[in-house]
Amino acid sequence: MIPMRFPQDFDVIVVGGGHAGTEAALASARMGVRTLLLTQSIETLGQMSCNPAIGGIGKGHLVKEIDALGGAMAQAADRGGIQFRTLNASKGPAVRATRAQADRVLYKAAVRSMLENQPNLTLFQQEVADLIVEHERVHGVVTQTGIEFRARAVVLTVGTFLAGKIHVGLTNYQGGRAGDPPSNRLADRLRALPFRVGRLKTGTPPRIDGRTINYDGLLVQPGDEPAPVFSYLGRRSDHPRQVNCHITATNERTHDIIRAGCDRSPMYTGVIEGVGPRYCPSVEDKIHRFADKTSHQIFIEPEGLTTHEIYPNGISTSLPFDVQLDLVRSIKGFENAHITRPGYAIEYDYFDPRDLRYSLETKFIGGLFFAGQINGTTGYEEAAAQGLLAGLNAALLTQEREAWTPRRDEAYIGVLVDDLITRGTSEPYRMFTSRAEYRLLLREDNADLRLTAKGRELGLVDDERWAFFNTKRAAIDAEVTRLDKAIVRPQHLTEERSLELLGTTLSREAHGFDLLRRPEVSYAALASIEQVGKADWMKAADVDERLAEQVQLQVEVQAKYTGYIDRQQDEIERQRRHEDTRLPDSIDYAQVRGLSMEVRQRLQEARPDTVGRAARIPGVTPAAISLLLVHLKRRQ
Ligand code: FAD
Repeated sequence: MIPMRFPQDFDVIVVGGGHAGTEAALASARMGVRTLLLTQSIETLGQMSCNPAIGGIGKGHLVKEIDALGGAMAQAADRGGIQFRTLNASKGPAVRATRAQADRVLYKAAVRSMLENQPNLTLFQQEVADLIVEHERVHGVVTQTGIEFRARAVVLTVGTFLAGKIHVGLTNYQGGRAGDPPSNRLADRLRALPFRVGRLKTGTPPRIDGRTINYDGLLVQPGDEPAPVFSYLGRRSDHPRQVNCHITATNERTHDIIRAGCDRSPMYTGVIEGVGPRYCPSVEDKIHRFADKTSHQIFIEPEGLTTHEIYPNGISTSLPFDVQLDLVRSIKGFENAHITRPGYAIEYDYFDPRDLRYSLETKFIGGLFFAGQINGTTGYEEAAAQGLLAGLNAALLTQEREAWTPRRDEAYIGVLVDDLITRGTSEPYRMFTSRAEYRLLLREDNADLRLTAKGRELGLVDDERWAFFNTKRAAIDAEVTRLDKAIVRPQHLTEERSLELLGTTLSREAHGFDLLRRPEVSYAALASIEQVGKADWMKAADVDERLAEQVQLQVEVQAKYTGYIDRQQDEIERQRRHEDTRLPDSIDYAQVRGLSMEVRQRLQEARPDTVGRAARIPGVTPAAISLLLVHLKRRQ
C-alpha cells in the first residue's frame, strides 16, 4: 500500500462519528479551527447503538450542559423526540430530569444536518487504521486505504469498536456493533502504546415487530402534556408527532426460561471476560442478582414514527437466540412476538482514564485526546459530554490557549471528568445525580446560567444563543425585582381565594417574591393575583413562549431554594480555598515529608493538577493534604 497524503492539513481530526465524535467535531469547528471528522460510515453519524432515548436522571443534566455550551444533542433530541417526559417531576428541582424517546432516523438526520452545515468542518468516510506519532506527539492518522491526514491534534472517539466482539449465546464474531465492522488495526496500534487497557462489555435487547405485540391490557405510558423541551433554544413546535409507550413485565416463567438457558450464556460460562454495566444489567444478570424478585418491568418503546420495530427496554440479553425467543414469548403481550433482531452483548477495549489529563488529552502522547466509551463510560450523553470537552480542548491546544474543564461545583461534565480521571473505572461508568456533591447548584434548569457565559468566552456559543441567553438573564433579574416590589394586601384576596392560592389566609401584606418562597405557592398562582399579574412582555400576543417559561421556572426555583443554594455555595467557598491550588508537574511526592507509601504511590500514579483533585483520590486523607500544603509552602 503506497501512502497518499491528503492535500489539505487540519488543526483537529476527530475519529468516529458517534455521540462523542459529533460533539467533538462540532465544538472544535465552532471554535474556528479547521476540523476533520473521519468516520467509518457517514450513514451512521449520530447513530444510537442501543435504545433510542436521550436523557434521564443525571444524563438529562449532561444534555442541558452540552446545550448550554452550544452542543448538538439537545437540539437533535428536540427534532427527533417522539415522547418527552420530566422524570422526578414531583421531587425537588435538583433531581428533575428530561427524557426523550427518539425516532432513530430523525435523530440521526438532525445530527447529520448540523454537521453538514457547520462552518470549518469537513466530513470524510474512511476507517482509521494508524496514528502518526513522532517524538511522543501525534501528527495525524492513516486510514485503512493508506490516506494520510495531518493535524496538530487528534480526538479518538471510537466507542465500542476497538477489537469489538459480539456474542449471541456461545457464538461470537468480530464487530463494532451489529452491522458494523470492528476497529482491529487501530486497536492493535493503541495496545502498542503505553496506555493501560482493559475489556468491558455492554448489551442490547432483541427488537420486536410492534404489529405482533398484543397491547390489550398493557399499561399505557403517555408523554407529558405539555411536552418538555430539551434545548434552551428549542420550541415545542420542533417536536415531531408524539406517541405513547407501554409497560409490561417479566414473570416467573420468563425467569425459569432464563435460568435454564444460562448454561449456554456467554456471561455465565466465562466466554465473556469484560465487565458489564452495573446499572444497565442484562436480564440474565437481573434474575441472578435479584433472585427473590418475581417480575421486572419492561418499557415498550417505539423505535420511530416510520417503523414498526419496538425496543423492549429491560430485557437486554446475550442468551442464545432460541432462549431469547422463548423468554420474549413468555411475556404478557409478546406471546406471538416476531423478533426482528436478536439481542447481543459486545466486548471491547477501553483505556484507563487515569492516563488522561483533565482536558482529556492523553498523558503519554501530546495532542492525542480520548473521549466517549473508549474511556470506560457508557451512554450517549456521557460520550457527548466528553466529546464536547475533548473537541474544545483540542481546538484550544492548536490555538495555544489554556485547556478548560469545569469544576465539580460548576457542571456534571466536571463531575464526570473528575471521577474518571482521579478514580478510574473498572466497570462502565454512567452518570447519576448522586455522583454530584453539589446537586442543588447543578440543576437542569440552570445549566445555561452556569455555563453559557464561559462557553461564549471560549468561543463555543454563537450569536443567536448568546442573545437569547442575555435577554433571559436580564428578564429573570427584572422579574425578581418586579415581584419583590409587588405588594399583596389582605384586602386584595377573599379568604376563600387566599386559601386556594396560598393555602392559608393572608393576615398582613406581603411582597410577591416572599409569597413565592412559600412551598405551596406556584408562579402561576401568584401571577393570577391581580396586584401581581405578569410582566407586560409575558402578556403580549407575540410572547416568546420559551423565554416566558424559562424565566418563570427560574424565578420560582430562585425564590424557593435560595436559602439552600446559598448554604451550598458557602460550603464550596470553604473547600475552594485550597481546591484550586496548583500542584506543579515537577512535584516529587517522594520528597513530601510524612506521606505514607500508599498515598505517595496514589499521587504519583494520578498526578493530580490541583490540591482539590488530590483530595478526591481514594485513600488520600485530609492529613495527607495538610502535609502536601506544607510541602508546597516550603517550595515557595
Ligand atoms: P459510538 O457511538 O460507538 O461511536 C463510535 C464511532 O466511531 C462510530 O461512528 C464508528 O463508526 C466510528 N469508528 C470506530 N472505529 C473507527 C475507526 N477506526 N475509524 C473511523 N471511525 C471509527 N449505553 C447505555 O447507556 N445503555 C445501554 O444499555 C447501552 N447498551 C449498548 C448496547 C450495545 C450493543 C452497544 C454497542 C452500546 C450500548 N450502549 C449503551 C453504549 C452507547 O451506545 C455508547 O455509550 C455510546 O454510543 C458511545 O458513544 P461514542 O461516541 O463513544 O461511540
